[in-house]
Amino acid sequence: MVRAIVGANWGDEGKGKITDMLAKESDIVIRFQGGSNAGHTIINNYGKFALHLLPSGVFYGHTTSIIGNGVALNIPYLLDEIKSLTDKGVPAPKILVSDRAQIMMPYHVLFDTYEEERLGGKSFGSTKSGIAPFYSDKYAKIGFQVSELFDEAVLEEKVNRVCEMKNILLEHLYHKPAIDPKELFQTLLEYRDMIRPYVCDVSSFLHDAIKEGKNILLEGQLGSLKDPDHGIYPMVTSSSTLAAYGAIGAGIPPYEIKNITTVVKAYSSAVGAGAFVSEIFGQEADELRRRGGDGGEFGATTGRPRRMGWFDAVASRYGCRIQGATEVALTVLDVLGYLDELPVCVGYDIDGKVTKDFPTTVELEKAKPVYTKLPGWKCDIRGIRTYEELPKECRDYVEFIEKELGVKITMVSNGPGRDEIIYRK
Ligand code: GDP
Repeated sequence: MVRAIVGANWGDEGKGKITDMLAKESDIVIRFQGGSNAGHTIINNYGKFALHLLPSGVFYGHTTSIIGNGVALNIPYLLDEIKSLTDKGVPAPKILVSDRAQIMMPYHVLFDTYEEERLGGKSFGSTKSGIAPFYSDKYAKIGFQVSELFDEAVLEEKVNRVCEMKNILLEHLYHKPAIDPKELFQTLLEYRDMIRPYVCDVSSFLHDAIKEGKNILLEGQLGSLKDPDHGIYPMVTSSSTLAAYGAIGAGIPPYEIKNITTVVKAYSSAVGAGAFVSEIFGQEADELRRRGGDGGEFGATTGRPRRMGWFDAVASRYGCRIQGATEVALTVLDVLGYLDELPVCVGYDIDGKVTKDFPTTVELEKAKPVYTKLPGWKCDIRGIRTYEELPKECRDYVEFIEKELGVKITMVSNGPGRDEIIYRK
């Protein structure tokens, strides 16, 4: 059975925790898109970890962790991340990397930084992990697949060809030092030796695993609203964040994805630029940011303070629909126990007309939030393990959101730990 765990919002919904939790019953966990640009924070018996490239199943001895072909593979980063786990006493995880995954080149990271510099105030708020240049090159057909590392002659010729193009941009657009193709070729040979033990025909491996009835998790990064097609373009990421892309980024048939567990955050947070209708500011935002997540809402990759907002039912319903959510996990509900009342954005006012449909970016820029207020529960709900034990106001909030989403909330997360979860029938 294949299950996808994906985000309905702007990312940072707590997918890492839900994946880590569900990985206990899984044989295989796969990353199928994105790269080291976002992070999952996971807390377990070994300590607290910020994973950027590895799937969240790496902490279990019985799971195979896979980097699918859809991922932007930063090879030295991956090896460092593996080492950071084993250094903390986590048993060496079983890792496979698709022979069709493409490689994050050192110049992708440079181009990302240079382009943000060039754009100045008009930048996209990139994490400068090289993601946009990487995917641009992939689709321009000048990327490097892992498989290409293993034919030196072909590799060298391609390195020379690509450097010629890159160096024109470096010299004339960015006024930065050129790339030395010889040096780059040597670096790639080093990458080859680093990655060799992990390389695998992942699609074929998964084909057999599905036939054998293995439990497989597809772990998404970021959320619906950062999808390049269905999100808030151009303030999006460069690979699809949707469960549907799991089929492509892992190499499995789309109809095998039976469950789409969509993670929805009980309030809103976002990083980077772009319209954020239910955003809050000042003290109100500071307080939610300080109390949010586990130790505050600050980026797992960059440490940047996240933008904060109230729950946005319009964006979240759309986020669930575009994922094809079959169930919802509602996270970080415990954080909201301090509030007297909880505003929920139930509509967007665009030029005096209220809509419940999530619009395209141009319209979104004009949207003003329409709020409904729900009473707060004014207590700490951490430690509660059954739904009935939650205060009535808290259940009302969950059920209000469920109605707005139109998807069953099967799990409520009330703390960062693996066991801090309430299952609902
Ligand atoms: P991801 O990228 O979707 O995995 O999200 P992040 O890991 O960036 O953000 C989630 C943050 O919230 C992490 O620090 C988690 O440890 C924490 N977290 C996850 N679920 C809960 C929850 O139910 N309650 C609290 N308080 N923190 C949570």
